[in-house]
Formats: sequence, structure tokens, C-alpha cells
Amino acid sequence: FSGKSPNRIVAQKLRRIEVGTVMSRPVVVQDDSSTHDAIVAMFLEDCGTLFVVDEQGLLQGVVSRKDLLKLNMGGPQDLQKLPVGIVMTRMPNIVTVEAGDSVWTAAKKLVVHEVDAVPVTRRVARSDGKDGLEVVGRLSKTNITRLFVELGEST
Ligand code: ADP
Repeated sequence: FSGKSPNRIVAQKLRRIEVGTVMSRPVVVQDDSSTHDAIVAMFLEDCGTLFVVDEQGLLQGVVSRKDLLKLNMGGPQDLQKLPVGIVMTRMPNIVTVEAGDSVWTAAKKLVVHEVDAVPVTRRVARSDGKDGLEVVGRLSKTNITRLFVELGEST
């Protein structure tokens, strides 16, 4: 390591660790779910960001805690009747990463786009011949914080 500053060693290490090794299981809801279903899934799965997928399992949108809280601002709503598509952020405006990307690239996206989590995706051909994104994982600020703690512990 002679000649390398400690910062440079940390930077190189972060660029070598792949998203696939630190990501979590994705929590998804179908695009025909209600906002009530989404709230229940968020509590049961203890996760702040849900990915919305179509019947082929391909990414359609993202729902965050605040997206769901916003529903209450216009007064009481029948959440069973309101589809999740009303509040989700939609493709193609979803920020994604791939399992082979570095954790540094992923962390940078979380910061630049000011989001708590990104879906880890893989490009696949849809049945209509167009491309879609299959959701294979979830990379959140929690994964980055956990890695940070682990790196700090290692000697
Ligand atoms: P919260 O709203 O709970 O603070 P975020 O900061 O992650 O959570 O979400 C802020 C907004 O950005 C929400 O409207 C959400 O739908 C959207 N969002 C969350 N994650 C992504 C993502 N990966 N790509 C694009 N938009 C996202």
C-alpha cells in the first residue's frame, strides 16, 4: 500500500464492493393494489420504499412513506379504493442500479437524487418485445450504513 493515502484506499475499496453483495430482498406490490394494501405491506415488511410491478414482475413505479402520507392531506380518503398508481413515482422517472454496480455508484445516486432507496434491476425482454426492468433487490440508505459500520469494524 506504499504511496497510497488512506482516503484513496477507502475509495478503491468502495468502488470494488458490488451492490449485489449488500442489497436487501425487494418488497414489491402489484400495480393493481390499493393504497391501503401498500400501507399494510410497508408495515408488515418493515420497509420504507415499495416497488410496484406489473403482472410480468417488471418495474412500474416506486411508493415511499411520504407518497402515502400525502394521501391524507386532502382529508379522509377511502384508501381501499385508491389505486397505488395514484401516488407512485412512475417509470421512466425511477432511479435504478444493477447488481454489478459499485456501492459507491449506488450511494452517489441516493445522495444526488435525494431518495432513500433504489431498486436493483436487470434488463429483460417483455412479452410485447420491448425492454423492461426486472426487480432483483433493494439498495437503501440502511444497506450503506450497515456497510459503513462493518468497514469501520474490520482491521
Ligand atoms: P420519503 O418520501 O419517505 O421521504 P424518499 O425520499 O425516498 O422517501 O422519496 C421521495 C420521493 O421520491 C417520493 O415521491 C418517491 O416516490 C420518490 N422516489 C423514491 N425512490 C425513488 C427512486 N429510486 N427513483 C425515483 N423516485 C423515487
